Amino acid sequence: MSDQFEIFKRFTFDAAHHLASNVPAGHRCAKLHGHSFEVEVYIRGSAEPQEGGWVMDFQDFEAALEPLRAELDHNYLNEIPGLEVPTMENISRWIWQRLAPQFPNLSRVILRRGSFGEGCVYYGPGK
Ligand SMILES: [Zn+2]
Repeated sequence: MSDQFEIFKRFTFDAAHHLASNVPAGHRCAKLHGHSFEVEVYIRGSAEPQEGGWVMDFQDFEAALEPLRAELDHNYLNEIPGLEVPTMENISRWIWQRLAPQFPNLSRVILRRGSFGEGCVYYGPGK
């Protein structure tokens, strides 16, 4: 057995959204509004001391996340395919699904809404 690690990378984006179909009229999320979101992406792996000593290069990790960040930032989430119902759960799952082909060892996606003290942790599809 090799030592196991999780490394993570954090990025932020600002975006607008609203929830229509799943909230009653008058709900605070029913009207168009914006949030500052914070995302942490976790990757599990080993880091053999004699073979680089890392799970992956953080520079490569950052480069892989940048297109995703750019797609979300200053966007209207409801208009992004797959995010028509942009709840915290659906956004974190969407991020996972976008990254999974590149990162088979993805272990968690954490999504936070800055000013609300709220968040969501997605551990991947059920087995
Ligand atoms: Zn909201």
